[in-house]
Amino acid sequence: MVKDCQSVWNNCLHSIKEGVGEQSFNTWFSPIEPIRLENRVLTIQVPSQFFYEWLEEHYVHILRKVIHQELGPEGRLEYSVIVDKGNEKYKPFTINLPNNNKSNKPPKEQNREEPLNPFALNGVDLSQQNSQLNPNYTFDTFIEGDCNRLARSAGYAVAKKPGITSFNPLMIYGGVGLGKTHLVQAIGNEIKDTLNGKFVLYVSSEKFTNQFIDALRNNKIQDFSNYYLHIDALIIDDVQFLGGKERTQEIFFHIFNHLHQNGKQIIMTSDRPPRDLKGLEDRLLSRFKWGLTADLQQPDLETRIAIIQNKMESDGIHIPEDVIEYLAYSVDTNIRELEGVLISLIAHASLNRKEIDLELAKQTLKNIVHDIESEVGIDFIQKTIAEHFAVKIDDLKAKTRKKEIVIARQVSMYFCKEHTNHSLKSIGYHFGGRDHSTVIHAVQSVNDMMQVDKRFKEEMEELKKRFKMKKV
Ligand code: ADP
Ligand code: MG
Repeated sequence: MVKDCQSVWNNCLHSIKEGVGEQSFNTWFSPIEPIRLENRVLTIQVPSQFFYEWLEEHYVHILRKVIHQELGPEGRLEYSVIVDKGNEKYKPFTINLPNNNKSNKPPKEQNREEPLNPFALNGVDLSQQNSQLNPNYTFDTFIEGDCNRLARSAGYAVAKKPGITSFNPLMIYGGVGLGKTHLVQAIGNEIKDTLNGKFVLYVSSEKFTNQFIDALRNNKIQDFSNYYLHIDALIIDDVQFLGGKERTQEIFFHIFNHLHQNGKQIIMTSDRPPRDLKGLEDRLLSRFKWGLTADLQQPDLETRIAIIQNKMESDGIHIPEDVIEYLAYSVDTNIRELEGVLISLIAHASLNRKEIDLELAKQTLKNIVHDIESEVGIDFIQKTIAEHFAVKIDDLKAKTRKKEIVIARQVSMYFCKEHTNHSLKSIGYHFGGRDHSTVIHAVQSVNDMMQVDKRFKEEMEELKKRFKMKKV
């Protein structure tokens, strides 16, 4: 059967989508056009040289994988790079993959094929096993700040002396996008790079669970346990997903005890502190507390600035100071989101062949924030504010002039103005048919109160976060 290039590429996209985040997918893969499929060579058109470089630098592995999946081991990818946009006679510029570009050198870990029986250990050199580590997640690229100091230095100590410090297990917890995976992988990479012959393994709890289920199904439990019992440093990510999975917990308990007794290091992450983990057996939870538990917090402004500077420098991109500050001020939720914004900004600059400046940064952020905010509606704001001020939603819409209600109403209107795209008229309408001048007055009053009352201002900042939080 002859495959056509569009359907091959669609299948590729399907797999890619699972492997990269949505934002990266939209930014880097949606603009690609498949143009030709000949002799197992798929040619795709990318909008600029920069795009091509970015794909090669960041997505070469996944691209190679999906091409092999779709076209077999002989399958190859070529790029046609639009060199001169908007001009009929652009020269297609084609490059084969893999090529010998420096950034394209496969990290020695990732390229190795998984063995047929992933747990077969007969006679192999354990330190040569695939550790499943991302080589970019190192201590060098993990910026230190007040938000992560303890976790980082504990991690570093563990990396230098795995299994020997009292930080065993080391449990890192914190919200989404705050650097848990990066930090624990940095520990793994450091161990591999500085201590010879250690068998380090990074595995997500989900993968661990799936491997276990497969092993059960295929009568390979013995191999499975044997494999895990040989590890020198086991990194297991997002243990909250073990909640409720009793049999997986049981085997993990067994592996944990064995490794711990033999002076092997265990490193875990979770999205919440151990005491809040649901559906985990007590005996497992009590083990988690044997070592050290350290949290990652939201990065402060200085750390955010340092992170942006560092990312840009390492990508060889210059962005002006005022843009860095603007971004660091505007995106304060988590680091993954900050990175997402940076990537969009770079992509916009590249697509439009513009320098990155404050104007472009504002524009880009507006587009992103716009998407986010459209999810926060008037109803949600009214509900949140009514709850906060302990008043009824109906009261917000009623005629009553009681002081507490007036304040709650004005605050709600203020947030509707700030966080939705509704017009003043529409906002007034949703508050019992008031007119637009009432909304203007409300916004003004809230602004005034924030100026004179510091406590009130802080309260407002807290509330504001709820509307921002909704996006993640
Ligand atoms: P989590 O596992 O907590 O959800 P990740 O480790 O995946 O978060 O981090 C999200 C992104 O933010 C990653 O790209 C990571 O490299 C980056 N990041 C997180 N913390 C830092 C830091 N301190 N310095 C530099 N980059 C960071
Ligand atoms: Mg993670």
